[in-house]
Amino acid sequence: MPTTRTLPTTVPTTRTLATTVPTTRTPATLGDVATRLLAHYGEEPWWWPVLLPDLPRADELLLGAVLCQQSRWERVEQALLRLDAAGLSTWEALAAADPAVLQPLLVGVAYPPTRARLLPRLAAAVLAAGGLPTVLAAPDARARLLALPQVGPETADTLLAFAAGQHVPVVDAYLRRVLGRLGLVDPAASYAAVREDLAGQDTGGVSWEVLHALVVEHGIHHCLTRTPLCRGSGHPKRDYAEPRKCVEHCRTCTACPLLEVCPTGASGQG
Ligand code: SF4
Repeated sequence: MPTTRTLPTTVPTTRTLATTVPTTRTPATLGDVATRLLAHYGEEPWWWPVLLPDLPRADELLLGAVLCQQSRWERVEQALLRLDAAGLSTWEALAAADPAVLQPLLVGVAYPPTRARLLPRLAAAVLAAGGLPTVLAAPDARARLLALPQVGPETADTLLAFAAGQHVPVVDAYLRRVLGRLGLVDPAASYAAVREDLAGQDTGGVSWEVLHALVVEHGIHHCLTRTPLCRGSGHPKRDYAEPRKCVEHCRTCTACPLLEVCPTGASGQG
C-alpha cells in the first residue's frame, strides 16, 4: 500500500551500516526476513480491506492507492467512504464530478484541492483506456498504468501486486527504511534500482503482496522512522476502519522479530 513518500533522514545508508556490522554476523536474506515477519505478524487477508463492496476490487485499489500518496491510510479510508456515500466512487461519476464538490470529501488526505482537480482526469483516463481489467490484462500493463494521471511507479506496482497477482516489489518508504536498516537495500537508491535488485531475490515463498503488507506493518509497529522499537513491544494499533487489522500481533508483541539479523538493532540504535 502506498504511503508517505518522505524518506526518513535518520535511516543509515548501506555504506554507513557497513561500518557497524559485526564481521561474524551472517547477513540477513530477504527470504529470512519475509519468513520472520510472517511468523510474527501473520497473514491478514483483510490487510487491504474491502471498504466499498459495490465497487470492482481493482477500482477500489487504484482509488485508494492514489489517495494514499503522502497520506495516512486511516484518512484515506474516511475519504473513500465519503466519496462512496456521495455516489462519487465510480469512474463514471468521478469523471463528471465538479472539483468543488469533491474537495470537501477529500479532507484529511494530502492536497485536497489538487486531488479534487486530478481525480476526474484519472477517472476519464481509466475509462478511455477501456477500464482497469483491460489495462491490467495487457502485456504492457505496467506501462499502461504509468500512462494514467497520478500513477507513478509505486502505485503501478501496487496495482500489479494486489490487483493483477504479479510477484513484483512495491518500493515505498517503509520498504526503504526497514530493508535499509537491515542492509538489504540502499535506501537512497532510485526506485528502479531497488525494484530490480529485489525482483530477483528469493522471498522465501512469501508473495510480494503479503510481504508488502508485512513490511508496512513492521514500519508502523517496530521499525519507526525516528527511533525503532528493536527491544520493546510494538507500537500500539492505529484506528482503522477494519477492526481485525493488526489486532492480534499488537496484543502479544514484545520485541522486533528481526533483531537477531539486523545490524542496526545489534548496534543498539533502537
Ligand atoms: S531490529 Fe530495530 S532497526 Fe532492525 S528491523 Fe527491527 S526495529 Fe528495525
